[in-house]
Amino acid sequence: MRVTSDGSVHTSIFQIFYGTQDDCRETDVLTIRRHPVGPYQANAWLVCDEARREAVLVDAGAEADRLLGELESSGFKLIGILQTHAHADHIAALPEIVSATGATVYLHPDAEPMLHSAEANLSALAGMPVTAPVPYTAVRDGDRFELLGREIRVYHTPGHAPGSVCFHLPAEGVVFTGDALFQGSIGRTDFPGGSLETLLQGIRDKLLVLPDDTRVLAGHMGPSTIGRERSTNPFLQDGREWGAR
Ligand SMILES: [Zn+2]
Ligand SMILES: [Zn+2]
Repeated sequence: MRVTSDGSVHTSIFQIFYGTQDDCRETDVLTIRRHPVGPYQANAWLVCDEARREAVLVDAGAEADRLLGELESSGFKLIGILQTHAHADHIAALPEIVSATGATVYLHPDAEPMLHSAEANLSALAGMPVTAPVPYTAVRDGDRFELLGREIRVYHTPGHAPGSVCFHLPAEGVVFTGDALFQGSIGRTDFPGGSLETLLQGIRDKLLVLPDDTRVLAGHMGPSTIGRERSTNPFLQDGREWGAR
């Protein structure tokens, strides 16, 4: 398996090939595109299976038209939306995208109040109230399910927001960490329901145990790896003994 990146400013494209690239047929390729959206530039990650012509979205933060336009122009059918949590900057485009595509939303039930309350999802505080009262399929810590023919594992990592989860694609070596773990940083813990201790424990127990080369695709900013964060993230430097397993 190998991963490449085009490094462009607004959209990072990773292509994950199975086998050597020379042997690779289009049918083996998964393309992951990063779209920073909305005033907070939350990452909307589009995971596209080139063979199936199906896609999964991680966090429907904003700019529904742009995301739907990309799906339409590239010919992908959206089959699922993985919500890492439900702060407003990650859910504002949910109603429009769900009604346009019928995609199934996957969310931890502790995040549900934030779908319905602009106070809970912090948008009222920012003076731009939004809600996203969409139906969803509940996911919890340890759940495993399949989309695009690929296994997805769920890790509950609260502390930034209630119901924060990470979605791990073990065969692809990719983990979507939402606002729990960033490149060189971690999520804020001063919002309602936040806890620094809880966040660090979740990162330590559920993320830093993943293989070093696991790609960290977070809710803001660019990509990193588990190995890089374990060795250089200033919030995690008392944790060298945690190690990989
Ligand atoms: Zn957040
Ligand atoms: Zn965010």
